[in-house]
Amino acid sequence: MDISVGNGVRMIDGHIHIGRWSERFFGLEVGLDRTDEVLGSCGFEGAVVTATDLRDNELVLREIERARLRYWFFAWVNPADKGGLQRLEEWGSRVSGLKFHPSCDEIRITDQRCEPFLEYAEERNLPVLVHCGRWQEMASYRYALEAARKHPGVRFVFAHMGGDQPDLVKATCQALSSGNLRNVWLGMEGIREYWLIRRVIDDLGAERVIFGSDYPIGHPKMYLGVIDALDLAENERRWICRETVLSVISG
Ligand SMILES: [Zn+2]
Repeated sequence: MDISVGNGVRMIDGHIHIGRWSERFFGLEVGLDRTDEVLGSCGFEGAVVTATDLRDNELVLREIERARLRYWFFAWVNPADKGGLQRLEEWGSRVSGLKFHPSCDEIRITDQRCEPFLEYAEERNLPVLVHCGRWQEMASYRYALEAARKHPGVRFVFAHMGGDQPDLVKATCQALSSGNLRNVWLGMEGIREYWLIRRVIDDLGAERVIFGSDYPIGHPKMYLGVIDALDLAENERRWICRETVLSVISG
C-alpha cells in the first residue's frame, strides 16, 4: 500500500483520541507512545487529537507536549460545564479547535448552552468538530447544519460525514450542495462504503473531505484501505490526507 501522499509528503489524520474511554467503549485506552508509533508507521506526520468521552483534556495537553509527531488539540467541550470557557482561556493558544459530542453529552449543538462556546470559537477563529451520528434526536446533521448557518464565521467539521450511514451522508451532502454552505467540511471516520466517499468527492470536492481514523476506535490502516480502494487522483489524495485539514485548522 502506498502510504504517502506522493513526493514524500506525509499525511495528517484529522480525527484521533488519546486517553481512556468509559465502559460504553469497553474502557479502551491507548496512550501517546502507542499513538505516535501507530500513526508514524502508517505514514502520518501528525493528527487532530481530542480527549475521550471521559473528557480528560488536561491529559491530552500534557501528553502531546512530549510527542514525536505533531498534534493539534481540539478541546472536548462539555456545554453543561460552567467553568468550560475559563479553562479554554487558560489553555489559550494550545487549543487549535473545539470538539462537541451531542450523543455522549446528550446536548444538541443547537442547545443554548453551546452558544457561548461557538461564540468563543468565532472570536478566536477556531474550527469546531461536531460529532454527527445515527441518533437523530440528539446528533443529527440537521442540527449541525443549523449551527453552521447560524455561525457562518465558524469552520465546522461534521464527523462521520454527517452520520455514519449512507442515507445520512447522502442527505448531508445534498443539504450542503443545495444550501451552498461554505463553512462545512466532512470527516470520513466511520465510513466503510468507499463508493460513498467517491460520491461525496464528486459532489463537494476533495477540498471538503478530511481523512480520519477515529484511532483507537478505528485504525488508520482501515481507512487507508478505503482511500486506496477509491483510486483517487494524486491531487484528491493530497487534499483528503493532508491539505483539507490544514486549511481548516489554519483558516
Ligand atoms: Zn471520534
